[in-house]
Amino acid sequence: MSLFFKKLNNADLWNKIQKLRQLIQTEDNFKKRTCWKCGKDLNIYDFLSDNVDFTPEYILKLWQTSILEFHCCECFRYLKINELNSIANELKERKCLFCEASIDIIKFSKFHNYLKIFELRSLWLDSNFQVFCDNLCQRKYYKIYYDFLKKSKLNKEKQLKIKDKN
Ligand SMILES: [Zn+2]
Ligand SMILES: [Zn+2]
Repeated sequence: MSLFFKKLNNADLWNKIQKLRQLIQTEDNFKKRTCWKCGKDLNIYDFLSDNVDFTPEYILKLWQTSILEFHCCECFRYLKINELNSIANELKERKCLFCEASIDIIKFSKFHNYLKIFELRSLWLDSNFQVFCDNLCQRKYYKIYYDFLKKSKLNKEKQLKIKDKN
C-alpha cells in the first residue's frame, strides 16, 4: 500500500519537474539563487522536491520573489534547531499524558514533523493540547479513555434501567 503511494508520488514529482522546466524556459529573468546564509548555489528542483505539495507555478513564483530568503538544507536544519531552542526557552518540557515521561521540544517536533515552526510553538505552549511520547502512548491513552467512557455509559444505562423498574 505505502509502496503504491510512493510510486505515485514519484510520478507526480516527475510531472512537476517537467512542467517546471517548461515554465523556466518561458521566464525571461530566471533568478540564480544562493543560500542566504552560506552562499552555496541553490537548485530550484531541490526546492520543488522539498515542497512537493506546491504547484510548479507557485514554486517558480516563490523562487522569483526578491524579498524571500532561501536556505540550503544544512543551514535550514541549523536555523530550525535555533528556533526550537528559543521555544524551549519559553517552556522547557512537558509530560506525556499517558506515561508521564518528560518530553522536550526536539522530541515533540519529531513526533509532529508535519508542523511548521510557528504551529509547533503554539501547540507546545497550549496547555490544552495533549502531548504524547509517540503514537503508542497516544493510542494507549485513548483506548483507556474510550473504555472508561464506554463503561460509564453502560453504568448510566444500568442506573436508568434500575430507575425505570422502580
Ligand atoms: Zn547554506
Ligand atoms: Zn509516553
